Amino acid sequence: MFDVIRIPAFKDNYIWLLRKGAAAAVVDPGDARPVLEVLEREGLTLASILITHHHADHQGGVAALLAHYRAEVFGPAAEPINGVSRPLRGGETIHPAGCDSGFTVIAVPGHTLGHLAYYGSGCLFCGDTLFAGGCGRLFEGTPAQMLASLACLAALPDETAVYCAHEYTQANLRFALAVEPGNRDLQCRLAEVIEARARGLATVPSTIACEKASNPFLRCTQPEVVESARHRGAGTADKVAVFTALREWKNSF
Ligand code: ZN
Ligand code: FE
Repeated sequence: MFDVIRIPAFKDNYIWLLRKGAAAAVVDPGDARPVLEVLEREGLTLASILITHHHADHQGGVAALLAHYRAEVFGPAAEPINGVSRPLRGGETIHPAGCDSGFTVIAVPGHTLGHLAYYGSGCLFCGDTLFAGGCGRLFEGTPAQMLASLACLAALPDETAVYCAHEYTQANLRFALAVEPGNRDLQCRLAEVIEARARGLATVPSTIACEKASNPFLRCTQPEVVESARHRGAGTADKVAVFTALREWKNSF
């Protein structure tokens, strides 16, 4: 098992560094500089890099990290990412050096078509697929693909820690409350998140249980969610129709 160090990057990204002893693995290093600073400060050697998808804010730092460390790079086989030495498609079990843990690789198409999530030691690293209180935009995949991907992640154990790649929680939950104003768990979560953000605290990781209770994109069969989606153009109560309407509504919220 590893310790997880949160490395803020850009405006609202989180790069996750997994530390075991003097070694480390890093997930989605969009920028090398803050990662190199932590590695040097903590006296760690980078052994592995895990990439969820090809967007620059998730893999833009790989080349600069490889200039300093000889790390193995795990990433989607189906996406154009320079430096990947272990291409993955989902379904594999990997044992990246530096974190003393195995991970199940889960294919989660939707935000991008080759998007991967990594699940191990009770932790889920899910990039821009499942967010705290929301989900990623559909840049490449279909609503049905994203819904199926989110269902795979929602099926993980309740206590799973959800390490997504952005601090979007407060805006996500404001939208969630517009969708589901009667959800008490959601009301409480939003109040907690507003307070945490006002104090400058991170709201990630969350848990699968928390997401199932308050993330509208995991709640497309709940009556209040279905009703709100109908007002936003969902023609039926079918969960793909509901999800599609929610995702389009969120895009302009
Ligand atoms: Zn992305
Ligand atoms: Fe991103």
